[in-house]
Amino acid sequence: MKRTAPVRLLPTPEQAVALRSTLHACNVAGSWLSRQMHANHVFGKHEAQKRWYSEIKARFGLSAQPAIRVIGKTADAYATLRANLRAGNYGPPGSERRRAVEAAPIVFRAEAAQPFDARCLSWQLDERGRGGTVSIWTTTGRLKGLPLVGGDAQVALLRTRPIGESDLVHRDGVWLLHAVVDIAEMPLREPVNGFLGVDLGIVNVATTSDGDRMSGSRLNRYRKRQLQQRKRLQAKKTSSARRLLKKRRRKEARFATDVNHQVSKNIVAEAERTGRGIAVEELTGIRARVRLRKPQRATLHSWAFAQLGQFLSYKAQRAGVVVVQVDPAYTSQTCHVCGHVDKRNRRSQAVFHCGRCDFVGHADHNAALNIATRGVQRWGEVKRPHAAPILAASQDGSSKPTNRRQRRPANSSPQGRAHDAVSKSRAAAWAGCSTAASLFISERGVGEVKIRRPTASPAQPASSAARA
Ligand SMILES: [Zn+2]
Repeated sequence: MKRTAPVRLLPTPEQAVALRSTLHACNVAGSWLSRQMHANHVFGKHEAQKRWYSEIKARFGLSAQPAIRVIGKTADAYATLRANLRAGNYGPPGSERRRAVEAAPIVFRAEAAQPFDARCLSWQLDERGRGGTVSIWTTTGRLKGLPLVGGDAQVALLRTRPIGESDLVHRDGVWLLHAVVDIAEMPLREPVNGFLGVDLGIVNVATTSDGDRMSGSRLNRYRKRQLQQRKRLQAKKTSSARRLLKKRRRKEARFATDVNHQVSKNIVAEAERTGRGIAVEELTGIRARVRLRKPQRATLHSWAFAQLGQFLSYKAQRAGVVVVQVDPAYTSQTCHVCGHVDKRNRRSQAVFHCGRCDFVGHADHNAALNIATRGVQRWGEVKRPHAAPILAASQDGSSKPTNRRQRRPANSSPQGRAHDAVSKSRAAAWAGCSTAASLFISERGVGEVKIRRPTASPAQPASSAARA
């Protein structure tokens, strides 16, 4: 499996000038090549290389390897664009937006990232610590002994694993190398002690079925402050205010990324230590499920949850811990002791009080316990793949799943309306996450099972199973 290890370069002012002019040259070359490819309708890497390789070298002062990287980058950019066009991300064929996208060649920003491979970038890492140097090709000659510094884990990774291609990135005045590293996969361990359930939310970023709550208050306070500052800056509408805004956005994203790293690390470590798997709710549509009063809406970014899910997945995979995604319906209204489902069970944001058995507990903890229970069920389904055709057949028996989803009354659950309101693009952002996790199970050959509603929901036609 591939991972990206970012490290920071510490160039002298002269070295920084050399790096900058290299990025500029590569991107000007890329934009020039892009125009040629677009005008000649040549989008393949090999054909482009055959036609323009020599000219790129001569025109822009690139040596052999950087020229090939520029061609690769440009061809990749067109491949991505074409995939996006096919997926309808620029609207249907013939639409104004799509025609505009198709008509114009791709242009690279002057400081867009540039890939470097082993022939134009070599690494010398210190035997211990988090430092080292690189030697990197530039348009003004090779820079040798350029110091770098990274996180302990990142540098340790670079020291021990083969380093693939690295992107040279210049952002907010900081020079970075994003190195791609191939890391060994751990064999998945059987979750002998069941599952650690994780409930994701806003007030508590994550609550586990052990009762550990990772509070979002620090993050939320931070975001609120950022939002106020952002509003002040937005009112100004000057270019320096815009620049500051951009910088703040990145800072805020880094802060949330940091929180997500810590939270996911804690959860995976706990599951690994206790011989359990991790059960999380299906990530698709979390944003829609979490109902919010207006001031809270700004604090919730769809990507932050998606990212937490991704971090959980890859950290777990690295540790050989199983992750399953479960259907989150009613987890917050169901009593984990007696199974009684009632929306009145949840008395407030924090308090769960069962109307039948009188169990009282923290609402998120109760939800996490339900998720843990569903994790065990889900794992059983994953391990008995022969159950899948039966369930799939019962779905096909009634109608296509999409139709059935429409048939269920939109307000059959309190989340229903919010569910319908979720925009398609947001849903797409989540999709990446859930695919990654389900692939992660299927790659191990345990069978890909996609069961959306393991328990019969009240609105599901009772005849569907019988007809199948
Ligand atoms: Zn109860």
